[in-house]
Amino acid sequence: MAGRNFLFIPGPTNVPDRINRAIHLAQEDMRAPDLPAFTKPLYEDMKKAFKTQTGRVFIFPASGTGGWEAAISNTLSPGDKVLMSGFGHFSNLWIDMCQRWGLNVQALDVEWGEGVPAEKYAEILAADKKHEIKAVFATQNETATGVASDIAAVRKAMDACNHPALLFVDGVSSVASMDFRMDEWKVDLCVSGSQKGFMLPTGLGIVCASQKALEARKTAKLPRCFFDFDDQIKTNDLGFFPYTPPMNLLRGLRESLNMIFDEGLENVFARHHRYAEATRAAVKAWGLRLVAKEPKWYSDTVSAVYVPEGFNGTEVVRTAYRRYNLALSIGLAKVAGKIFRIGHLGDLNELQVLACLSGVEMAMRDIGITTVQPGSGVAAAQEFLRASAKPPVEEARKI
Ligand SMILES: *Cc1c(COP(=O)(O)O)cnc(C)c1O
Repeated sequence: MAGRNFLFIPGPTNVPDRINRAIHLAQEDMRAPDLPAFTKPLYEDMKKAFKTQTGRVFIFPASGTGGWEAAISNTLSPGDKVLMSGFGHFSNLWIDMCQRWGLNVQALDVEWGEGVPAEKYAEILAADKKHEIKAVFATQNETATGVASDIAAVRKAMDACNHPALLFVDGVSSVASMDFRMDEWKVDLCVSGSQKGFMLPTGLGIVCASQKALEARKTAKLPRCFFDFDDQIKTNDLGFFPYTPPMNLLRGLRESLNMIFDEGLENVFARHHRYAEATRAAVKAWGLRLVAKEPKWYSDTVSAVYVPEGFNGTEVVRTAYRRYNLALSIGLAKVAGKIFRIGHLGDLNELQVLACLSGVEMAMRDIGITTVQPGSGVAAAQEFLRASAKPPVEEARKI
């Protein structure tokens, strides 16, 4: 098909040309004497993406799921009690993983459309006088429902009763696109991956661990081998790896960080917020509803939209793909068929967002959702983007 494909799923995201060029290189010796000159600054700079000075970043040849496993297996012991909450496909998969690792999981079943129940966590933690809960888990951005959670509020709930549990955060679809503050929120383990905010192909499972988490690994008894932090530390400290590293992806990650720092991390967050707001303006103009119930749950990286009663969200996704070369995401599990999702993260600009919204509109009308007026969502998003565009018109029109 002529032209570029329109990839609007919440990961993998578009890989910018700059990163593709950085990845497209001859294979290199992973024991070359000058490799540490590349790897050491890379690991150091990764800390900035997590906003940490005291934490430590691990990069595995894996995906986000591997990152989950690394975080769990390095810091917990069989039978450890952990507090979790499920409100979508990904938070539920994390619960499933902890259960399969033989942890004693207390999982709160939260209505889809809401996020981590910080108040409920506060009650449970305050009642846990003997500190039996060893870890508290929070999914910062539930990609299946487009729901963002308040991690600072979770930390506050823990601090309010001086609870010593480790704080785990799933930041796979939020780190490097929505604000995340490892040190300020005293997060102990944050998991991410390469194919979302970092704009790379899939293949890296990334974990940022606090000093407290690194200390916990010394007594943690879950088995680990491939994901062992110790093996990484021993070799990474010298600028090398315990097994063959995915060098092309690491070179790509370097370029990704360069791009993110060139734009400025805060500007990256603001850009994501702006595109999310434009998308939400379109959803409103279509007369449709987001899965996220209230503004406080709105995600800046993905919007999950209910189709009207009697229609199938998966048909919208199929139609957009087959007729317009636009990839949207389907609803998963409980919301399968009821919704479609628009991923608006990574390497995107305003007109790409508008093109996507235009394709969504056409696909919805194609399958008979005639309550959606042609151009309505696009117009709402255009007006929002125009109002917030830079530079101001007076300056932009100067010859
Ligand atoms: C994508 C995603 C995952 C899973 O990551 P993989 O790279 O597919 O293993 C986990 N959690 C969230 C929130 C995600 O968006």
